[in-house]
Amino acid sequence: MKDDGVTRRDFLNGARVAIGAPLLSPWAELFAGDWDRGADYYPPAKTGLRGTHDGAWETMHARVSGQMWPEGKPEEQVDLVVVGGGISGLAAARFYRQHKPDARILILDNHDDFGGHAKRNEFKINGTTRIGYGGTESIDTPSSYSKAAKQTLIDIGIDTSKFYQAFDQTLYASLGLARGVVFDTENFGQQKLVTGYGKRPWEEFAALAPLNDQARKDFIRLQTEKVDYLPGLSREEKYEKLHKVSYEAFLRDYCKVDPQLLELWRKWGISFWCVGIDQIPCTSIHDYDGGMPGLDDTLPRYGSRGEEPYIFHFPDGNASVARLLVRSLIPSALPGSSMEDVVTARADYMQLDRPGSRVRIRLNSTAVHVRHSGGDTAVDVTYVTQGKAHTVRGAKCIMACYNMAIPFLCPELPEAQKKGLAYGVKVPLTYTKVLVPNWRPFAELGMDFVYYTKDFFKQVELDYPVSLGSYKRSQTPDEPMILHMCYVHHDQEHKGPELWREGRRRLLTTPFSVFEQHVKDQLDQALRGAGFDAERDVRAITVNRWSHGYAYSPELLWEPEWKSEAEKPWVIGRQRFGRIAIANSDAGAKADTNCAITQAWRAVQETLNG
Ligand SMILES: Cc1cc2nc3c(=O)[nH]c(=O)nc-3n(C[C@H](O)[C@H](O)[C@H](O)COP(=O)(O)OP(=O)(O)OC[C@H]3O[C@@H](n4cnc5c(N)ncnc54)[C@H](O)[C@@H]3O)c2cc1C
Repeated sequence: MKDDGVTRRDFLNGARVAIGAPLLSPWAELFAGDWDRGADYYPPAKTGLRGTHDGAWETMHARVSGQMWPEGKPEEQVDLVVVGGGISGLAAARFYRQHKPDARILILDNHDDFGGHAKRNEFKINGTTRIGYGGTESIDTPSSYSKAAKQTLIDIGIDTSKFYQAFDQTLYASLGLARGVVFDTENFGQQKLVTGYGKRPWEEFAALAPLNDQARKDFIRLQTEKVDYLPGLSREEKYEKLHKVSYEAFLRDYCKVDPQLLELWRKWGISFWCVGIDQIPCTSIHDYDGGMPGLDDTLPRYGSRGEEPYIFHFPDGNASVARLLVRSLIPSALPGSSMEDVVTARADYMQLDRPGSRVRIRLNSTAVHVRHSGGDTAVDVTYVTQGKAHTVRGAKCIMACYNMAIPFLCPELPEAQKKGLAYGVKVPLTYTKVLVPNWRPFAELGMDFVYYTKDFFKQVELDYPVSLGSYKRSQTPDEPMILHMCYVHHDQEHKGPELWREGRRRLLTTPFSVFEQHVKDQLDQALRGAGFDAERDVRAITVNRWSHGYAYSPELLWEPEWKSEAEKPWVIGRQRFGRIAIANSDAGAKADTNCAITQAWRAVQETLNG
């Protein structure tokens, strides 16, 4: 098939193998059965391949491949249509209603659950429910949130100070747990788990690690000596220089370490940036994970998080932010009244899209065309649900979906704007949750986190210890635990956004059985020394597959210097176009909840003033 341009390639990323009508119909049949289950319809409890689950993505990919659906006469009329039911779309609906309390709003989302990346995973074990986060993890640095985002958190009932009580910051350290590293055979000659990274004296850790003699010496030197590798330069001069130097180049050319150490730290930041250290500038990584070896005395940390620890975490992550937004829009869908009771509240999905309700959230519905109509007095949005196209007319429309999808949905946009929207490649990754009956092997080995130097999953870690409302964290190592494992595709052939395109292609074509096999293999590698047996101990797996994950963020090495805000592609891309405004975290080029809410606020102001 001919590739007809960057935008299309960005969206598809070679995943065309699975596109087209033959895939749509079996799903439509499957899903029809699910929807018919009424009160039993409860996506958070599903396991297997979730995140962008099968059934969620095929319609949009078919649209990108050129499929069209008839744009029929509008079956409904509303004041606002929001495309995308993630935090940004939900926040946009909320901001709009603050100005127009009687507005009728329809939110469309292609997934079977609301929240976008902010997804909830539930597991049942021994008669209890464990709750995990399938994506958007925490309210990171709430003090840095915009005024509108801070106020939104307050208005929906979140008091971030309560997390200081809810999150047990000392639990794992008080049990003597620290990081372990599984070294790989290819780079280190043997597969070996070494525990106590950052806890044991560095000399002791290095003695246990399968490093060559020079790497061992360099490791100890880097971890223990205080060296400024750019003496004589001011902080600004260092920043200027290191802004264009990858952490790999810094280790190799400035610290002059043995190449084996590059392999040790190559994937250290991959769950955050989704590239190796050869593409992350020193100025981005130097604040990561409590500081990176060699950099601390060259470019002292800002402490970008200030005094705020990383604790603002609901058991289901920011799914609770999404759930509280839904509660504020459709109270009957999420009974309760506090940030504590939302944790265990069971969402009633039958309430989301009720006739007569002023706000309706329609799941499993993919927008395929969005265009001005009625002589530019309205916007018609055609969407596909259960294989059938429907059209809704809105006085206004907010696109809170993915930037790179918008040019396909709104072909009438100016070319420069389409180009701006297509600029940022979304970053693919998975958050895989694994239910185990206890975490005794972790306690016995003294680990709460395992880093794998070169394996499918970059890490496995114990869940954040949070108790909120009636939900209690796993109290002792004898109790069930949800493990968090992160997979990001990495290879040395692809660089920059090409790596993400390749990663997306792989994600959408990797079956669940492959994830399962790696989960079991890697847990056995790390834990079998303490009696763990994956065949026996892995009770459930949920792979949250985010083929369109993090919003593109312009902090990696290849990003050009933009002369002004106005010429940044995502700023050009997010301009209001008639009755259509653009929200979502892509519009602010930052993968965070603050950005998602702030962009929603901006889009609503434009909608109200336009
Ligand atoms: C694994 C992961 C972990 C993260 N962790 C954090 C974190 O700890 N803290 C943080 O602040 N941020 C985190 N983020 C960033 C996260 O993306 C944002 O915080 C926020 O949740 C994004 O909200 P959004 O509404 O902008 O986008 P999304 O959540 O992506 O929502 C957009 C919605 O629009 C839907 N959509 C797309 N196309 C269509 C269509 N044609 N029709 C209908 N619907 C459509 C999408 O499927 C999606 O449901 C994380 C992201 C990921 C992927």
